[in-house]
Parts: sequence; structure tokens; C-alpha cells
Amino acid sequence: MTPTPEPDPVDPAPYPLIARGKVRSLYDLGDSTMAMVASDRISAFDIVLDTLVPDKGAVLTQLSLWWFDQLADLAPNHVVSRQLPPGAPADWADRTMVVRRLEMVGVECVARGYLTGSGIRSYRESTTLCGIALPPGLTESSRLAEPLFTPTTKAGVGDHDEPMTFAEVVEAVGGPLAEQLRELTLAVYDRAATIAAERGILLADTKIEVGRDPDGTLVLADELLTPDSSRFWPADGYGPGRVQPSYDKQFVRDWLTSPASGWDRASGQAPPPLPDEVVRRTRARYLEAFQRLTGVPWETARARSRADTATPEVPDVSI
Ligand code: ATP
Ligand code: MG
Repeated sequence: MTPTPEPDPVDPAPYPLIARGKVRSLYDLGDSTMAMVASDRISAFDIVLDTLVPDKGAVLTQLSLWWFDQLADLAPNHVVSRQLPPGAPADWADRTMVVRRLEMVGVECVARGYLTGSGIRSYRESTTLCGIALPPGLTESSRLAEPLFTPTTKAGVGDHDEPMTFAEVVEAVGGPLAEQLRELTLAVYDRAATIAAERGILLADTKIEVGRDPDGTLVLADELLTPDSSRFWPADGYGPGRVQPSYDKQFVRDWLTSPASGWDRASGQAPPPLPDEVVRRTRARYLEAFQRLTGVPWETARARSRADTATPEVPDVSI
């Protein structure tokens, strides 16, 4: 079993905790809104590690906000405000968004344009992906003829997401909603892949989480198009037949599976703490992904976020 994630390294919150995910904590702000606070926790192989990656939570939140803006005409999203809620701990700065509390759809909506990770593993076993038959001759990192909707179950903490066929999604949520999920997921992928391509980045795949309004409208929720939910590859140097360098947790996974870590993934033991060098390089990758996608250096973006979310000073009206 995966150990329960440690409490956030943030000051005690003045709001009731609704839930703690692997990376984010949700706090009840009343009126059907919540503060979604991204910690600096990092997970690998669905296990939350003991080591924190400085600024990771803030980078994920600011990058998600940027993508929500880019896709605003495509679908509504859950963001209500970027301002910190009153009395928020100082540690919440940059890493927090106020969102609508939605009824979440219990399917992880994945789109893939390239074959890698669990996708290539499934192809090698059965030449299919989520029940979709693929042509012969594909290899690690092959580009798919067209992007595919490859949904998974949404597992609880400690469990792994399992691939679902489209028929299983229909069974779980009904035909009309299943169709809507597929259409929205592929539309998000298409738009984001186009934007990323303009910046020299291939979007190999992405996972979105979707909630529903009381009137049934689909709303983009959770994080959007971050290195934790997506595989971004530098376009120059791309070539099928080998694993691509990516803007994500590759250093962490590589180190954990190398002899240097002394960790056996099959042992069920908690992984060891990450060495400083692995943390430093991983942090640099997240910052680089942010800058390449948004075109803005992280320090500049953070300074802007601070200025935008600062509590306005109360004007002095005394005479
Ligand atoms: P992972 O993202 O790695 O699969 P996780 O599901 O534990 O892990 P976190 O991102 O740490 O995810 O936690 C966020 C939780 O908040 C998720 O369970 C997500 O479904 C939920 N969530 C996100 N946005 C909303 C929203 N607007 N309304 C209700 N729940 C939400
Ligand atoms: Mg999540």
C-alpha cells in the first residue's frame, strides 16, 4: 500500500479541509467554492515521495491558469478567482486557485497523439489501446495516425488507474456523456498540441479531469496541461524507436529505477528520499517547461502573480 501523503508543508489553513489528493489539497470556502492548493509534493509510479520539489506547486498552478486562458473559448473551466481567499496562509501564494466545487466525472480523460508509456506497453501486448485496434509496425514514440481517446479509471490514493474501453466508459457514464467526454478531450488535445508546436514542443499525450455544472455542462477542472498531467517533448531531436527526453519527472523515475537508489519497485517498500541533484534538475525541468510554453521566465511570472493577487491596501481615509 502507498503511504498516505504527508500533510502539506503549508501553514495551518483557516478553512475546512475537503480532501487531500496526491499533490493538491482542497479547502471549503463556502458557496460551492474551494481553494485548490498545489503542494510541492511529487509522485512517481503513483507513489507520493517524501522529498519536495521547491516551487513545483506554484509552477503547476500558474501553468494551469495560463492554459485555462488559452482554451477559454473551447470549454468553460472551474476557475473563479486567482486572488487568495481572506486569511490565506502566506505559503498559499502562487500555488492556489479558487475554483467551483463540481461533481467530478469518474473517468480520467486521456488523449494520445504518440505511443509511449502504458500506451506502447498495451500495444506490444495486444496491438490495441483501450480496445482500439492499431496498425502493425508501430514502435516506442510513434506518432499515431490520429489522436486517440484512451480513458482510464480514476483510482483512489494508492491504486493505479486502469485503461477503459469506450464501451466501458459508456457503461459507466452513459452514451451521451461518453461521446461528450471523447469530443472535449480530443478538442483540448488538438488545440494544445497546436499551441505547443508553435513553441517547438510536441504534446505526446495529456489527461484532463472534467466536472459538471448543476445544469450538466462539462467544465474543465483540476490542473490543465502541466508536466504532471501531460508528456511534452522537445520537437527538435524527436525520432520514433526510442524514449524521448521529456519535461517531466524523467530524472526522478530514472534515478529511482537505477541501482543508485537501491530501491526495488516490486518490493512494496517506500522509495528513498531523492538526492539534491535529482531535485535540482527536476525543478529546472518544470521551470523550463513553464518558460518554453508561456514564453515568460518563471521569476517574472511569479512576480506578476504576486502583484496581481496582493491584498489591496486599505485606503487611509482619516483626516
Ligand atoms: P493524480 O492527479 O496524480 O491522479 P489525485 O487525483 O490524487 O492524483 P490531486 O491533483 O492531488 O489528484 O488532487 C486533486 C483532487 O481534486 C482530485 O481528486 C480531483 O478530481 C479533484 N478536483 C479537481 N478540481 C475539482 C473541482 N472543481 N471540483 C471538485 N473536485 C475537484
Ligand atoms: Mg490530479
